[in-house]
Amino acid sequence: MMVLPKLLYLFQTIPIIKGIKIFKEWQKAFSRYVWEGKKPRIKFKFLTDIKERGGFSLPDMRLYYEAACLCWIKEWVKLENKELLDLEGFNNRYGWHAYLWSDKKKVHKGFTNHIFRGALIEVWDRYKNILEPKIPHWLSPLEMRCIKTINMRGKWGNYGEMVVKEGGKWKIKPYEQVKALTYDWLNYFQINEMFKKELKERNYEEKESIFQKEIINNEYKNLSKMYKILLEWHMKEEEVKPVMGKWARDLGYTIKLEDWERLWKENIKFTACTLLRENTMKMFYRWYLSPTKLAKMYKVDNKCWKCKSKEGTFFHQWWECNKVRSFWEEVYNELKKMLKYTFVKKPEALLLGIIGKDKSAQRLAPTITQ
Ligand SMILES: [Zn+2]
Repeated sequence: MMVLPKLLYLFQTIPIIKGIKIFKEWQKAFSRYVWEGKKPRIKFKFLTDIKERGGFSLPDMRLYYEAACLCWIKEWVKLENKELLDLEGFNNRYGWHAYLWSDKKKVHKGFTNHIFRGALIEVWDRYKNILEPKIPHWLSPLEMRCIKTINMRGKWGNYGEMVVKEGGKWKIKPYEQVKALTYDWLNYFQINEMFKKELKERNYEEKESIFQKEIINNEYKNLSKMYKILLEWHMKEEEVKPVMGKWARDLGYTIKLEDWERLWKENIKFTACTLLRENTMKMFYRWYLSPTKLAKMYKVDNKCWKCKSKEGTFFHQWWECNKVRSFWEEVYNELKKMLKYTFVKKPEALLLGIIGKDKSAQRLAPTITQ
């Protein structure tokens, strides 16, 4: 997609979008383009899913924007690039972590009035509890407590360095061990108290969070990794797509998720021909309009076009109808002759190319679908 890099450039350099209204409008425009102005036949969310899960990898602009914002916030988390932080937080009153973690932006309204900071922190708030449900390892209690001045020190000790698990409980390490990070006794006791209080409220993260591992401690491909994390979360409830249920109802049994996944991951790659791939996806998503559907839309006859006696449901048109049956019979017999291999004549094999686990059958799957 040609526009994506251009948009990503803008998202990464001027993060100023507040609210999510504009993304809905963009999504509508995308949808209009994809479906050429006609009524969509596949839910937008499924178009944006990754190909390995049966999606079409259509970029979701909102998630890309949010991913870009969260990658920007990485600098506020890391506290390393002092020049950048002084420039961006020229009138900050508290440390960056205070705004990120302890809601100091409510006390200091000026923080969100800044055109970049306001938009960025809005995205952070949307995902904060998802990305960091417990106290994160990167959080620096000292920075959180400090009053911000220009050109402050760049290295701040964080919980990851200060906390230790003792007898199943999280604790701040003894003073001698964290002396260099806490600077003096007073700080040490304050941190101790703060940690105890927070531990009660939110608990401490056992291991570094995905956000920390993939984004904060990682230099490469941050944006696409962040996008993947957000997309994953976004798709969590949609693991079983409604069309799978429809297939199960028609077939009278459920196709295992791993079989579907094999279809998307391997079987569909049998050809470089986009037309054939398109056919498989259209069949999976039951893209075709059956007489039953047309009857609901236009008040026309809902009978099957071929036998003209039974109701023309999707499954009848493709499998159950007697006239179609004889066609599949011919195809099946011909295939057996050609391949010198016998397989069970099942609708999912002939319609979708799902053959099951049999290794030798696996190799034939592509041929059958063609
Ligand atoms: Zn029929």
